Amino acid sequence: GGIGGLAAALALDKFAGIKPCVYERRNQEDDFGQGTGLLLWPNGLCALKTLDVDAYEKTKAKGTRIEGMEFDAFGKTNNGPGSDFYEQTYGEGVVSVGWADVHDALLEAVRSRGIPVVYGRSCEAVDVKQDDQVSVKFTESPDAECFDLLVGADGINSAVRSLCFDPTPPAPQGRAIFRAVVDRAALEEGSGGHPSRTTILARNPQRLAAFMPLGPDRVYWAGTVHYDDEEALPQSGAEAKDMLLSEDYNMYPELQKAVKATGSESIFYNRLKALHFLDSWVKGRCILMGDAAHAMVPATGQGAGLAMEDAVQLGMSLEGSMDDGLRHFEQARKPRCEMVQGMNNVGARQAYNKDKTEERPLSQEEFSRLLYNFEPVKWKESQATTAMG
Ligand SMILES: Cc1cc2nc3c(=O)[nH]c(=O)nc-3n(C[C@H](O)[C@H](O)[C@H](O)COP(=O)(O)OP(=O)(O)OC[C@H]3O[C@@H](n4cnc5c(N)ncnc54)[C@H](O)[C@@H]3O)c2cc1C
Repeated sequence: GGIGGLAAALALDKFAGIKPCVYERRNQEDDFGQGTGLLLWPNGLCALKTLDVDAYEKTKAKGTRIEGMEFDAFGKTNNGPGSDFYEQTYGEGVVSVGWADVHDALLEAVRSRGIPVVYGRSCEAVDVKQDDQVSVKFTESPDAECFDLLVGADGINSAVRSLCFDPTPPAPQGRAIFRAVVDRAALEEGSGGHPSRTTILARNPQRLAAFMPLGPDRVYWAGTVHYDDEEALPQSGAEAKDMLLSEDYNMYPELQKAVKATGSESIFYNRLKALHFLDSWVKGRCILMGDAAHAMVPATGQGAGLAMEDAVQLGMSLEGSMDDGLRHFEQARKPRCEMVQGMNNVGARQAYNKDKTEERPLSQEEFSRLLYNFEPVKWKESQATTAMG
């Protein structure tokens, strides 16, 4: 029931004519990303539009069309291009939006298609059978149920991944992030960043700060910290607030003003983790997608975009037969996600390190061209290409 799961449900219904059911561990009234903002780049917006035009329009209406990006890195100020450039080059711009707004837009689209969402059900056992079926046991259900397909879109701590593919837990990356969404009106002058630009402040490689507008009235702020000792990290919003207001963050007065205006109960914090790549995302009638398949530490802002791309591709791959379609999905998605993850990881290391000498697998121009032009491969088209040789 996250962004990836809802997107997959839409795509299965829309492209493959498969009637899905979404099972979500959280309860309906729980928090679905209230304290987080996302950047959606041209590829993510294109995937969202392909999934559902209404959800795409609602997401854009709730968010901010980004006019430019400001980087204040180690004493140098740089300005990156904004939506004018991206629209002209890739057909879509860049939007910053609340995580919950994207989630709500997708949920509305799922509901309007009559797709059921069952809350408070956590997947706790999976049996991939030989006979084109998969049996799944959810909490609160007395018995396991049989399905034609299980899509593990259950995030970085995926139960489906650890039960069916690899029990290795996500690896901590030595950094933690503290973040909140606040009303712009509550912020003092000189805080909150530009109303239509993203701002990234890197005045100390051990600590970064960022601002993102979420529509005209709200601002998303984030601060990161490098840590050696996990025990020393804040354990509550109040402790996180104290840390961000301490002298250690004095190089970011604009962040400290925003932190002061934020109630400690609204500050979210988590240790950044990533998953290693798997040889395969398909096992019988069970597959992985989104963060469950390729969670990466945030650097290129691509997690939600890739999850929606996965969903579009899954729906299009399953227009044909199920087993061939699952292989087709994996072939279409794995190389692309590995390419993005590789570049993302170099970018993440460079963001925390003044040394920019680490070689990137691709030039920035080539990476942008490949990344922002999302072109799902239709099952029927790929068959025609194969038949023609
Ligand atoms: C700090 C931060 C900043 C980010 N910034 C960006 C950004 O700017 N742009 C971007 O595109 N991405 C960004 N991302 C990444 C993005 O949030 C994720 O990649 C994206 O949400 C992945 O979606 P998902 O549906 O695969 O997983 P999730 O969003 O984690 O959803 C998984 C869902 O499965 C449910 N679930 C978990 N276990 C079970 C179970 N056993 N049974 C049933 N349900 C279960 C969960 O409750 C959840 O609802 C960021 C991530 C972080 C941490």
